[in-house]
Amino acid sequence: MLQTRNIHIAFEASWQRLLQRVPQPATHGVYAVKTTGIFCQFGCPSRRPKKINTVFFATPAIAEQAGFRPCKRCLPNTVKKSLSHLD
Ligand SMILES: [Zn+2]
Repeated sequence: MLQTRNIHIAFEASWQRLLQRVPQPATHGVYAVKTTGIFCQFGCPSRRPKKINTVFFATPAIAEQAGFRPCKRCLPNTVKKSLSHLD
């Protein structure tokens, strides 16, 4: 199905971004690790998770609703302030 295919492409694109640590504001999407229960913004210096344990969310709020907690290194739920400060 077309929709399933689109989701798969989105996952792969997000996964590649995670692997390459391409920085991205958390408001544009975060990744979470099922085994640790923590979510990070892209570009976080933390150890890369296993692909099978990784899920992606559109926003930090959705990740929190799913039961994940924000990473203490990259602070994906507070990054908005520091980023907007740069403008
Ligand atoms: Zn992190």
